[in-house]
Order: sequence, then structure tokens, then C-alpha cells
Amino acid sequence: MRGRRERPLVLVVEDDLRYVRQLRADLAVGDFRAVFAGTGSRGLTEAQTDPPDVVLLDLGLPDVEALCVLTRLREVCEAPVVAMTLAGDDEGIARALEAGVDDYLAKPFDLDQLLARLRAVLWRAPAGAWPPFASAGLTVDFAAAEVRVAGRPVAMSASEFRLLRFLARNRDRVFRPAQLVDEVWGPEYAGDRHLARVYVRRVREKIERHPADPRHLVTRPGVGYVLRKHG
Ligand code: CA
Repeated sequence: MRGRRERPLVLVVEDDLRYVRQLRADLAVGDFRAVFAGTGSRGLTEAQTDPPDVVLLDLGLPDVEALCVLTRLREVCEAPVVAMTLAGDDEGIARALEAGVDDYLAKPFDLDQLLARLRAVLWRAPAGAWPPFASAGLTVDFAAAEVRVAGRPVAMSASEFRLLRFLARNRDRVFRPAQLVDEVWGPEYAGDRHLARVYVRRVREKIERHPADPRHLVTRPGVGYVLRKHG
């Protein structure tokens, strides 16, 4: 289940501090939020407390058999699971895949491999939680990352799409510009309030028939912005 916040939450179940340190840095670069658990039981508690969007599960955990953790994870959350295994541990990989992990990463892995795996499983994750947003000729297909206006696809930059996706998932809710910057770009951009204004204008130019008199992405004077759902 996706959290309310825009940046995906990764639950890392890993006891090796070297990998914890590496993953902490890499996931920040990849614009993921991360929570860390050093044992399988701690990981299960975290998964229940704050359901992650994806789980990175070390196959060699100190307290319990990792595949038991996998079974329990499946009971408490819907997130895809990427197993982390030692390179060459073909038997471990085979057992993990048989047990139903969504993908695996062989240690040591680099930043690009990590981000590619995470994005791949998030991409494949069931989109059921987020049916497409459709309102008065505007369609935002979250699973396909596609925006259409009157049936025609609209090309968008990554930031434009993230802003529109966030507003579409939170339709009819008004966000202050600072809130939007925090949700879409992250707290490190907190001082950059004009980002919201600039990108709202760009998105309007792409989705509105009359950008100066918007029908979808509306300004609430003195408050902020809202994506309205018509019909
Ligand atoms: Ca380990």
C-alpha cells in the first residue's frame, strides 16, 4: 500500500552495518525514504507500523530464517520484496525466488543496480491502489506514468509529472506551495518555494485549455493549489 507521501518508503531489513551505511546514502540519492531494521522481527514490526512501498530483505539475518520473514511480510503488507544475497549464492537466490521474492540483488551491488531494481519492482507493483485519475478530459495513469488531455498523450518532464501525480492522488485537497515542495521535491528543497509556482505554471500549460483560467489545477488565493476532480 502506498503511503500518503510522494517519495516511496523502503524498509531495509539488514544486520550488516556496512550495507546499512551504504543503503542509507544510496537511498537518499535515489530520493527514497528509508527505515532500517537490524533483525527480522524488528522488520516485521516496522512493516506493520508504517507499511513500506518496497522491502529490501537480507537473506542472512541473525535472528530468524529470512524466508520465514518473507512469509510473515506477505501477511502484514503488500509491498514487493527484493532479496539481498551474496554473489554466487545461487542456491539462496533460487530458494528466495521459489519462496516468492519479487527480485534479488547480489552483494556487492552499486547505486545504479540498486535503484534500477527498486524502480522496476515499484513499477510492477499492483496499481490497484491507485486507479487512473480521470476528470473532464484529463487522465493521469499512475501505473503507465502517462498523462492524456482529450485522449492525446502529453509529454512531461519528471518533475512536472511528479507534481501532477501528487496532486492527482490527493485530488480536491489544497496544498500550500511550501507543502508541495516538501512532498514533491523533498525537505532539502524547503527554501525553494518558487519551485511550486514555476512548476504549477508549466503543468498548466500542458493540461489546461486556458492556462490563465485553469479548470483543473486551480489556485486558492492566499492558500495554495488544488487539482479539482470534475464529475
Ligand atoms: Ca546478514
